[in-house]
Formats: sequence, structure tokens, C-alpha cells
Amino acid sequence: MGIQLTILGCHSATPRTNAHPTAQYLKINERHILIDCGEGTQVLLRQQKVPFAKIKHIFISHLHGDHFFGLVGLISTFGLLDRRTELHVYGPKGIKEIITLQLKLSKSWTSFPLLFHELNSKESQVIFEDKKISVTTIPLDHRVYTNGFLFQEKEGARKLNMENVAMESEIEICDYHHLKNGKDFTREDGSIIDNEDLTLPPRKAHSYAFCSDTAYKPDIVPIIKGASLLYHESTFLEDRKNLTERTKHSTAKEAGSIAKQANVNKLILGHYSSRYSDLNQFKIEAQTEFEHVELAESGKTFTI
Ligand SMILES: [Zn+2]
Repeated sequence: MGIQLTILGCHSATPRTNAHPTAQYLKINERHILIDCGEGTQVLLRQQKVPFAKIKHIFISHLHGDHFFGLVGLISTFGLLDRRTELHVYGPKGIKEIITLQLKLSKSWTSFPLLFHELNSKESQVIFEDKKISVTTIPLDHRVYTNGFLFQEKEGARKLNMENVAMESEIEICDYHHLKNGKDFTREDGSIIDNEDLTLPPRKAHSYAFCSDTAYKPDIVPIIKGASLLYHESTFLEDRKNLTERTKHSTAKEAGSIAKQANVNKLILGHYSSRYSDLNQFKIEAQTEFEHVELAESGKTFTI
């Protein structure tokens, strides 16, 4: 239950000894998700002891290499491990062609169902939903078609207020299910007990917004409003703000401003440019706009 986010890679552009490109492993309400898949992601997953077979959904933000060049390798490894469970890949239109061409020419056909869900809408839309979670796109502003993703828990069942339930002799265990689903209880004499007198509200549903890569785009604020956790790219500091227009990236201050406007609980920064060696400067700069800032770091886990 809840959210557990593990940062696998969080640096921009080329992989280096201690700087891996974007990939994140998200556990949300019992669902196991991979977000982006830069080079080396499968090694980082192994380092974090993530059971490969549990990942059924992979969300790719855009088709720049530092966000998906690890995908064909991971899929190929799934095949070598004789995976049987299906794998769903969500990403920009074209991702199916890129991946299947490599699998075809290397004769690496998979032993499991590989299902692509290609995206091309510039509007925010729900792209996955089950009884536990939903996933909504966050259209971003980058040099190529890019989406962030909002992962939301569905609100769970109400909890029994056992003190009050125990006082009603007519309530039996077989009634619990209905009470948890919000139904009132009717006694044999026809009198009704309000559900609210017998149950407590469910635990708060949490959400995680992933926004990378993007220029400063306040349009996304209504989509991510009140998120429990926001990852927003901060490729640069304000000293290189002149580069953000051409590269369509953000500064740490701009990430902080988005977090403030969206009134999220916590901001995580990442996608740092290799120009910077002191990453703490990113935190200091973002905190001029928003207090609750953390730095993404390979292997770091955030839990809600
Ligand atoms: Zn990019």
C-alpha cells in the first residue's frame, strides 16, 4: 500500500561512472511500474533487487536516447529469462517500430505478450486504469513529443469502526464487506444505522507526478495540483537560463516554482546537466521558491 519510488538513474545525456540516465522504479498500491529506461536500467534494477517479473507496465516519456535506450536490452533479457507474463509499454508514437525492428533483425522474439500503447495526443488523458491505480499523461514542452505521467492511487474501502460495530449485536462478519463499501446497516426492526456511524474514512489516496523532460510549463499545474510527490527536471541552474529556451529544459528555480504553484507535498529534482559538480546548489536554488525539496540520487528511495 502507498507509494515507494526508487531512483535508478537521474542525470541527463551520456551515462558516466556514477551518473546514470533517467529511470525510476515505482511501487504504487501494489502495482510495479518502470518509468523511463535509460541505458543500464536493467543493471540498476538488479542492484536494487527489483524482481523483473513483477514489472508489467513501462511508461516512456519521450524518444530521446537517455530515456529509452535501455528498453530493448531489458525486453531482450526478459525473453532470455523465459518470462511469460505480459508487458505493456506506453510511449510516443514510433516506439513500437523502434523496438520491434531491433527484436526482428536480431531474431530476439519474446516468449511473452509484448503490448505497445502508443501516444500522440497533446491533451492530458487517462492511459491506464484498474481497480488500484490510474495513470494520466502530463503533456510537456520539450524538443520532441513528450509526456510526463501522473500516477494516482484509487481511494480504498472504508475501515470498520470496531468499537461501534461491536455494540450492534445484529451485525455479523458477512456484513463487513457491505459496510466497507459504504452501505448503511438495516436492523431487523427496519431501523437504519448510518454507515458513517460504523466506519471510518479510508486512508488518503496518494499520487506521484513525473515531469521530465520539459521547459518551464505552468500549464501543467492544474493536472498535478496537490500531488503527494513531484519529480520535476532541473537540468540547469539559473546561471544557464539562457540555454533553457533552445534545449527545452528547466532550471531548479523553475522546478521550485511549479512545485509551489501546484502545492505539492514534496519536490524531487533530477536530470542534472554534467556541467555541475555540486548538486546541492540545485536544492538551494529550488528552495528559494519551495521549501520541501529533495535531490534525486541513484539508489535513493522515497516512501509515502
Ligand atoms: Zn530529452
